[in-house]
Order: sequence, then structure tokens, then C-alpha cells
Amino acid sequence: MVYQTNTAAVLYQVRDLRMEERPIETPGSGEVLINIRATGICGSDLHYYLDGTMGPLKLDPRSPMILGHESSGIVTQLGPGVTGLEIGDRVAIEPGRACQECRYCKEQGGQLYNLCPKMKFLGSLRQGPNDGSLRRYACFPAYLCHKIPGSMSFEDGALIEPLAVAVHAVNRTHVKQGSVVAVFGAGPVGLMTAAAAYAQGASQCLILDINPSRLEFAKKYLPAVQTMAMPKVSSTLEEDEAQQQSANIQKAFPKFQDVDVVFECTGVETCVNIAMYLTRPGGAVMLIGIGKRATVMPIDIIVSRQINILGNFRYANTYAKAIELVKDGKIPLDGLVTHRFALEDTLQAFELAMKNSEGVIKIQIGDF
Ligand SMILES: [Zn+2]
Ligand SMILES: [Zn+2]
Repeated sequence: MVYQTNTAAVLYQVRDLRMEERPIETPGSGEVLINIRATGICGSDLHYYLDGTMGPLKLDPRSPMILGHESSGIVTQLGPGVTGLEIGDRVAIEPGRACQECRYCKEQGGQLYNLCPKMKFLGSLRQGPNDGSLRRYACFPAYLCHKIPGSMSFEDGALIEPLAVAVHAVNRTHVKQGSVVAVFGAGPVGLMTAAAAYAQGASQCLILDINPSRLEFAKKYLPAVQTMAMPKVSSTLEEDEAQQQSANIQKAFPKFQDVDVVFECTGVETCVNIAMYLTRPGGAVMLIGIGKRATVMPIDIIVSRQINILGNFRYANTYAKAIELVKDGKIPLDGLVTHRFALEDTLQAFELAMKNSEGVIKIQIGDF
């Protein structure tokens, strides 16, 4: 379908998201115009919607911002000098534009460009506001548009963004053939992290969450996983609670006495602590979720067991690999998108996302 208008979801301030018509841009040098077909709602979009802020920056209603960064679409126009893409190509859009000049962009073969301080990321206030991809048409640099195979749906194409986070995080650990891993949090990133760990060779994976319906979903999504419902843990740490919880987990699942890597996707202080106890000596805890800044941790355990604590921020050079893993059937995405809305119904989609209802994993918006 060819549209003459460009509907966009523009956030002015807290809970003031307006559907507006914007002009359709003409692609500049090295850019392509994309008809965006699917965009997932992510925690950060919701954060902006509910708080008008992420970190220290606050949205100014005088310069409103289009939300969205998990997108796929179809190339509809080529700007001058574009090679490697053609009109009609289906693409997953990598949302971060790094400066390509700083040390993070240049050193180690550009493997650290996710840390570029001048990164302009779609739907983010940092170095912005940078208008996001919750709109029908937008121009992007061609090098950030990664071709997806014809067999891949636009839904799956838009899931490549959160999947890239998972693949990057797993890649940066020593997960290998036969590894035993645990994942805290059965939301989209936790589930895809478990899938990426299997793809990298893990033989045992335990997913923990407080929400039993999410665990049921995890079981359907990855039939090999073990799941465990956590008792509702306190968001701040109680003395010895984490140690006790870790012991309970290992009692219930003896195969998880020697967990090589724990992926922490919740940011909840108690979970971070359980992760430190659950990891075997010499193992690693990969922190993906972000909770409160000052999180208490058992330093004696971390030091005496030589636990490697890693952080993960987004991804670098991961899209092609993530697309390949899906294409080759090594990572499933089936069922992760549980709710779909038309672009015009973006507000309803955000209202649903806010409710945190049972059965919601990923909400997407678009023309599927
Ligand atoms: Zn996201
Ligand atoms: Zn840079």
C-alpha cells in the first residue's frame, strides 16, 4: 500500500502522545527512505511516555519527540550514493547512529561503537531529541538498514533490535558448548537471551521470574528450559535473603549447582544478589537489566569466588549475526509478538503496555 501521508506518534510530555502528520522526507546522500512496517514498544518508550524522561534528560514540550526504535520496513527510495540496497528490500533498522570518529567508534575495529558518547539513538533524548521510528516513513543511513530474508516477517524483523541486545550480551560471555546458564526475568530480553545462550551452545538453562504466566510462555517458547517461579522478592535486599534464595534454587534444580553464567535482566537488587550466589566460582554475572544506581552486592562472595561481573549496553556489529541466527532456525521468535496495533491506534498500544497485563510479551505497532 502506498500512503501519501506520514502519520507519526509524537510525545510532547508525560502521557501526551499525539498522532500527527509529518512530511515525507527525501533521502539525503547515503540514506534510504523506509516505509516502516513494524515497531515494537520497548521499556524505554514506555518510560518516556510515563515519566517524560530517561536518566538525567527531560522531554521539553517545545521540542517533542517521535518515539520508537525497534523497527523493520521496506526500502521505498534511494538517496544519492547508496549501494547494496534496492527499492523493495526488506530491512531491519539499527537505531543507533554513532559518530564514527571517536575512540569507541575507531578502536578495536569499531567493536565498541555502542559506547560512542555522541551516539544518536532513535526515540532518545541523549544527543537529541532524536525522532524515533513510530511513523510510516523515515529516512535512515543505508548502512544501518540490514537486509532480512523474504521468509522473515516484518514482526520478526522488528524483533531483531531486542534480539541484538541478547545476542551481544551472550557473545560477550564465555558461554560455550555444554554451559549451564540461568536467566532472571522472562520478559522479551530475558527470553531471547536464553534463546541466544542455547544458540551459543548452552546445554542447560533455568529461567526465573515472579510471574507464572510468563514462565508458562517461556516453556512454550523454549521447550528445553527449566523454569522456576520466584517468591515475590523484596525490591531491596534483606539480610541473607539472596543466599537463602540461591540455596533454594539449587535444591530444587540440582543441575544448577555450577552455573557458568547468570544473565540478570530485571535490575532488581535481590535478583542481582541471588545471581552472585548462584554463579559458580570463576563464573560470570552479565547485568542487562538496570535497577537503582546504588545496588548493594555481596563483595565477599564476588571476590572470594572470583565472579566476573559484566555490563551490557545495547550491541555493536550484531544485527547481521542476529538475522543469520533467526534465518538458520537457531533462534526462534515465534509467539513473542502477542499484541498488534495499527499505527493510528498507537495510544491504545501504549495504554495496554502500561497495564503490564497477563499474556503480554511484545506489543508491536504497524502494517503487518
Ligand atoms: Zn528497546
Ligand atoms: Zn563515536
